[in-house]
Amino acid sequence: MHKQTALITGGAGFIGCHLCEKMLANDYKVICLDNFITGNLENIKPLLKNRNFRLIVHNVSNYIDIPDKINYVLHCASLASPIDYLDFPIQTLKVGSLGTHNALGLAKEKKAVFLLFSTSEVYGDPLEHPQKESYWGHVNPVGVRGCYDESKRFAEAITMAYHRVHGLDTKIVRIFNTYGPKMRHHDGRVVPNFIFQALKNKPLTVYGKGEQTRSFCYIDDLVEGIYRLLLSKINEPVNLGNPNEFTIMQLVKLVLKISGSNSKLVFNPLPQDDPKQRQPDISKAKKLLGWHPAIALEVGLKRTISWFRK
Ligand code: UDP
Repeated sequence: MHKQTALITGGAGFIGCHLCEKMLANDYKVICLDNFITGNLENIKPLLKNRNFRLIVHNVSNYIDIPDKINYVLHCASLASPIDYLDFPIQTLKVGSLGTHNALGLAKEKKAVFLLFSTSEVYGDPLEHPQKESYWGHVNPVGVRGCYDESKRFAEAITMAYHRVHGLDTKIVRIFNTYGPKMRHHDGRVVPNFIFQALKNKPLTVYGKGEQTRSFCYIDDLVEGIYRLLLSKINEPVNLGNPNEFTIMQLVKLVLKISGSNSKLVFNPLPQDDPKQRQPDISKAKKLLGWHPAIALEVGLKRTISWFRK
């Protein structure tokens, strides 16, 4: 039997490369598209030897022309770290809007299933807690995070339009804070920042008083949820994340304990529009996908710290 083919945009990024591995392990052919604006060739280097894997260096904000038969389009390409979308706001808006349009057009042409990688940022600085999929969010469109939040909100809207108008089988995953091996040490997001700083015995950079909360999901849990969603019949958005909520100061303590570091703390100003709290309501994923995260923060941090040590 012929293998099915999955095209993964942003396949050399943190989540993308884990998904490439997951799809190959489940006997799919994988075509990875990446322009390496934040992707990392090291992430996929071991896969380049696999004859079921192909890398195409391409910016998906430009027209995507692939002759192969494609069964699944996973649109993962995005700048996902606040420091990256502050540095590249226009590219962030383009990949969320034009890139999503191109990826949808490709899926339509190939009669493929389409999966959009959306984000908890569509909820902005949420007034409803925890966040259910039915919550419409509290986003500042003209703030510094607007380029990311609004491009993902547009991406969700155009995905639903392709579903309604063209009957495309589309899925939308709203991803909450995820961490694990293969994040860049200079990624800027809180888990790799703290781990890198702790291992170098440099001060941990806490923004604000560290009272803001996040709920951290280990990458293997997330990827399993995404795979289940891809094969499901669900077309409405689904939250995936770990509902265990921590303050940033609790995260500091855990990272210092597990790494055995003597790092001090430095308190920097809280970035503009930084959400004060975030916790996914995952009842939909539990009920419809039979999914729930299995890896506790302490366990996931241990694995991530030992990867960073190497
Ligand atoms: N944060 C921090 N120190 C850092 C990086 C981030 O205190 O070195 C805080 C940040 O202000 C936010 C939280 O950690 O409240 C998570 O930030 P991250 O950039 O990981 O992602 P976000 O959830 O804000 O998109």
